[in-house]
Amino acid sequence: SEDFYRKADKLNVIGQLAAGLAHEIRNPLTSLRGFIQLMQSSGTNKSAYCDIMISEIDRINSIVNEFLIIAKPHATSFRKNDIRIILHNVVTLLEPQAVLNNIQIQLEVEGDFPLVESSEMEIKQVFVNILKNAIEAMPGGGMIRIALVAQTNSILIRFNDEGNGIPDNLIPRLGEPFFTTKEQGTGLGLMMCYKIIADHKGSIMINSVVSEGSTFDITLPLSAGE
Ligand code: ADP
Ligand code: MG
Repeated sequence: SEDFYRKADKLNVIGQLAAGLAHEIRNPLTSLRGFIQLMQSSGTNKSAYCDIMISEIDRINSIVNEFLIIAKPHATSFRKNDIRIILHNVVTLLEPQAVLNNIQIQLEVEGDFPLVESSEMEIKQVFVNILKNAIEAMPGGGMIRIALVAQTNSILIRFNDEGNGIPDNLIPRLGEPFFTTKEQGTGLGLMMCYKIIADHKGSIMINSVVSEGSTFDITLPLSAGE
């Protein structure tokens, strides 16, 4: 039956996720093991080894953290939230990281702004991920523009960066678990964004031009109830 296939499909996705997670965690664990062996056998530069080991442990930690949020069952509370406030808080949170990278963040709000039935924690997580990606895409600095537009029965949140952009052939792969082009990436950020926005019955649209920049359009219905 259709239900059977849906379940089989779900199991398949979980299996892929588990395999990916195991793989992603095994890499830093293997390197940690190697460094501990090195430290056992010689009196060489222990402090340099420690730095690498700490960064590998941090990496495992961030993979597990992002994964936990994805795995958490959909039990979050939906309330009527002011998206402007959530966005403002996230921008303040990421401001130091932006300044360090010579990046300015410009926030623009159009019109009277409606409340959106949403999970504040989850939406905050989406904004953090999208903005972090934008910052990481702009090693040479520049401007990130965020526009909030009220539409009939929905809102649009547009994130525009002047980063390195995404080649057309990679856009369909965004949000695939563990898909990353970064040395230190987890490839879980956008996957989480897609899941959260889908839970809110919204959508994410991506437009990008290589070496010019990217635009992420998030649409959220004012009410996610069916
Ligand atoms: P991660 O940031 O850990 O790599 P994400 O799921 O957040 O994982 O992003 C997946 C990939 O999507 C990134 O590695 C990058 O190639 C691409 N990407 C996402 N956002 C942007 C952006 N604003 N500009 C350029 N590339 C991006
Ligand atoms: Mg990311």
